[in-house]
Amino acid sequence: MSSFSIERLSRPLAKHVRRFGTKVINNVRTTRGNYAKVTSADVQHFKSILGEGNVLTGDQDVQPYNVDWMKYMSGESRTVLKPKTTEDVSAILEYCNDKMIAVCPQAGNTSISGGSVALFDEVVLSMQRMNNIIDFNPLSGVLVCEAGCVLESLMGHVESHGFMMPLDLGSKGSCQIGGNVSTNAGGIRVIRYGTLQGCVLGLEAVTADGSVLDCLNTMRKDNTGYHLKHLFIGSEGTLGVVTKVAILCPILPKHISVAFIGLDSYEKVLKLFSIARQEFAETLSSFELMDNTTITAVEDNLKLGCPIANVHPFYVLIELATSQPNLNRHLENILEKALDDSIITDATTADQTSTINKIWKVRERSIEALMKYGYVYAYDISTPLNCFYDIVELLRDKLKDVADCKAVCGFGHIGDGNLHLNVATREYNKELSGIIEPFVYGWTSECRGSISAEHGIGYIKRNYLERTKNGKALGLMQSLKHTMDPKCILNPYKVIPPSET
Ligand SMILES: Cc1cc2nc3c(=O)[nH]c(=O)nc-3n(C[C@H](O)[C@H](O)[C@H](O)COP(=O)(O)OP(=O)(O)OC[C@H]3O[C@@H](n4cnc5c(N)ncnc54)[C@H](O)[C@@H]3O)c2cc1C
Repeated sequence: MSSFSIERLSRPLAKHVRRFGTKVINNVRTTRGNYAKVTSADVQHFKSILGEGNVLTGDQDVQPYNVDWMKYMSGESRTVLKPKTTEDVSAILEYCNDKMIAVCPQAGNTSISGGSVALFDEVVLSMQRMNNIIDFNPLSGVLVCEAGCVLESLMGHVESHGFMMPLDLGSKGSCQIGGNVSTNAGGIRVIRYGTLQGCVLGLEAVTADGSVLDCLNTMRKDNTGYHLKHLFIGSEGTLGVVTKVAILCPILPKHISVAFIGLDSYEKVLKLFSIARQEFAETLSSFELMDNTTITAVEDNLKLGCPIANVHPFYVLIELATSQPNLNRHLENILEKALDDSIITDATTADQTSTINKIWKVRERSIEALMKYGYVYAYDISTPLNCFYDIVELLRDKLKDVADCKAVCGFGHIGDGNLHLNVATREYNKELSGIIEPFVYGWTSECRGSISAEHGIGYIKRNYLERTKNGKALGLMQSLKHTMDPKCILNPYKVIPPSET
């Protein structure tokens, strides 16, 4: 990741900011809002709430919070605040709202849409110290925890009780449950367990003026008026700061089987998907696609071996999970038939944890493999399945003469109609971005897809929001924002298009 263009980008940008208070990132131009600058008196006040060590102001200390995982954004924040309790968050927001200080909530900072990093000098509210597990009920399977718990640590906790988290992502070692909820994260098991919108039973959030909204319901059923929790699930820190969540966890399946399969056309991928749904029914927990370019990047750049010979145009990873034995035998029988019927061309299966984990790594580290080329233009779109892969081929053709283009590839959660379309180059190029983006989002909106299936809008997609949301919907979003955060201090410049803020 070290060869990213962030340094190249940040120097001219910093100069631009000093002169005009304006920034252009990813072809999006933004002017700093009329917010107060943080003074030494403000810093003293924050220290009086949080204690000396939990307010970072030195350049070196603040720097890691100013760059996101994809290195799309280089923030200019000079203040990082680390609350420990809901009361801390409440006191900070009340103060910032009074003083008109802008705030950027940050969890694991693995956002792929530039939502988690300050654009100008917003205060970064890092949730990492709010990492207590409050309760796990082994009868109901309901987990209650603070927003700063890292997803992987929650997985370990509930697994020790015979349960599992309903979501799993490649970023699980860093992302936090509050970040997951705020982005309505999807991941590799949505096909079986749905998105967080269905699994979050309740939450606690602090709104812009510091009010604590206790909707930490732990009941499965609660039809008492508006479902206020949904305002915070997927709103990317623009309507409030999530401080606690209650999540319904499924039982940990006793048997898991995985297959890694080679296929020679996208049509056959769809045939296999149809067979998998019919044959494996409720045991199907993942159906993931990778194309040959993705696997080649994983092999070349991470030196991870493909589980079968890398000679196929497409690869599918199927995961089955159940409490019944003989799952692997059933999987093998179905795949043998698919092989006889020439639907698939090669496959390997595994039911041992260590081999399963090895196979999953190939899929989970795909984006990391592409980033080794230098820079990745990453698009996370939902499309109808019949045209799911067309955009990869169209874009590949469009960019065939671009010398710096190292890879145009697609992988993703095909079971959910969610394609991760990526273009890898050595360096960021503004003109190239200006060619790719309108093309990808125009195509997506023509097939009535979504410009963000799971990563969110953040900063880098907000100019394209109208490709997915009509004027009335955008207007309602804007009025909700004004109602809940009238001074617009919470994650300004994110989600809502510039003219609407
Ligand atoms: C290798 C890799 C694989 C990934 N795979 C997937 C995947 O399969 N599916 C998927 O959906 N995403 C995936 N992502 C994207 C990312 O991990 C998710 O969006 C994740 O949910 C972000 O969590 P985070 O803790 O890092 O949040 P951050 O990146 O820190 O924040 C995300 C957004 O939420 C806001 N926010 C954070 N915490 C709070 C809070 N407590 N209250 C209010 N707002 C808050 C931030 O302001 C920001 O707008 C992947 C990322 C990487 C790097």
